[in-house]
Amino acid sequence: MTTDATTGQRGPGPGQTAGLVCAHNHLYSALARGMPPPPAVPADFLGILENVWWRLDRALDLEIIEWSAKLGALEALEAGCTAIIDHHESPNAIEGSLSVIADACREVGVRISTCYGITDRHGPEGAAAGLAENDRFLREADGRDVRGMVGVHAAFTCTDDSLAAAAELAASHDVGVHIHVAEGLDDIAAADRIRDLTRDDWMIIHGVHLPDDHGLRGTVVHCPRSNMNNAVGYADPARFDNPVALGTDGIGADMLAEFQLAYVKQREVDIEATPDTAWSWLENGWSLFPEARRDRVTWSYEPIEPWHLAFTPTIRAVDVEIDNTLAVRNGVATLVDADEIRAKAGEQADRLHRTLENLD
Ligand SMILES: [Zn+2]
Repeated sequence: MTTDATTGQRGPGPGQTAGLVCAHNHLYSALARGMPPPPAVPADFLGILENVWWRLDRALDLEIIEWSAKLGALEALEAGCTAIIDHHESPNAIEGSLSVIADACREVGVRISTCYGITDRHGPEGAAAGLAENDRFLREADGRDVRGMVGVHAAFTCTDDSLAAAAELAASHDVGVHIHVAEGLDDIAAADRIRDLTRDDWMIIHGVHLPDDHGLRGTVVHCPRSNMNNAVGYADPARFDNPVALGTDGIGADMLAEFQLAYVKQREVDIEATPDTAWSWLENGWSLFPEARRDRVTWSYEPIEPWHLAFTPTIRAVDVEIDNTLAVRNGVATLVDADEIRAKAGEQADRLHRTLENLD
C-alpha cells in the first residue's frame, strides 16, 4: 500500500488496483450451472434464448433470485470485482425483484446497479410491469446510495412504444438505458430503431452485428466469453468510436479472466493488438461506476501491468476493501458466511433445476 506524500491520499500499490467493475452481468443466472439440458438442442442464438434463458427466467421466484444474487455477488467479491452492473429478468416475479438483488449484494458488500429488462414477449402487461419495477426501484433509490438504470431486453423483443417508454422513464430519472443490441442477427434492425433515443449514459451491450458507423450514443459493453459461448461472432469493439467496457453477461464476474480473453480474442484478428487496449476497456468500468475507484484490491501477484496480467494464470484477490471495510481478508469474505451462502444457493439451485425439468 502506498501513500501519496503530497496529498496523503492512499493510492494502489504495485500489487493493487481499485475494485474491478463488471459492466454487464445477470446475477439471476448464477444458479444456472448444472441445470438440466434444454428440451431441444439449440441450433442458433434464438434457439439458445428460447430453450435455455427464456425458460430459466420463467422459473425464477424471489427466493431463488435472492440466493442467486448472493452467490454471484460473493464470487464477484472473491475475484476482486466490487461493482456489478446487473440486468435482471424474472417474468413471474417482477415486482420487488430489483430490491431483492440490491439487498443481497449489499449484504455481501458488493456495489450494485441493477435494472429490469423490459420486453413485450409476455404481452403489453409484461412490458408495463417491467417498466413499473424499474420506476419503483429508481424512486426508492433516489437520494440513497443505490444505483439503477432502466433495462430493456433487446429491441427485437420490444415494440417501438415500449422502447420509447423506457427511454422516457430513464430520462425522467436522469439515468441511462441498459439494453442488449445486435447480439445476434435477429436483432440486426436494433440500431435504426433506437438511434434517436440513445444518450451518452446508455449502455449498449454486445453490439456484435452493429456496423462500424452505427451512430448509437453510449458505452458499448463487450462480453467476449458469452459471445464465443453463444457462437454469435466477434464484436471487434476496437472499431467503434464509443467508449468500450467489459462485462461477463452472467458468466461469473472474474474481470481479470474476461480481460485476458478480450485481449486474446482481439489478438486473434489483429496481430498488432496489445493488452493495453483490453485493459483500457476494463478501466472504463470506473467511468460507469466511479465509487469502485475508492475500493482497493490487493492481488496475489505484482506488478499489475497489462502485459504481465495477460499471461499470468490464476491471479487471486487476497484482500478487498470496499468503502474502508475489509470485505475479503486472505481470500475469505468477512461480512457473510461464504459456506452458508454456497449451501443455501445450492438448495435453491436444486429447486430451480427441478422446476425447469417440469416446465413446458
Ligand atoms: Zn446480457
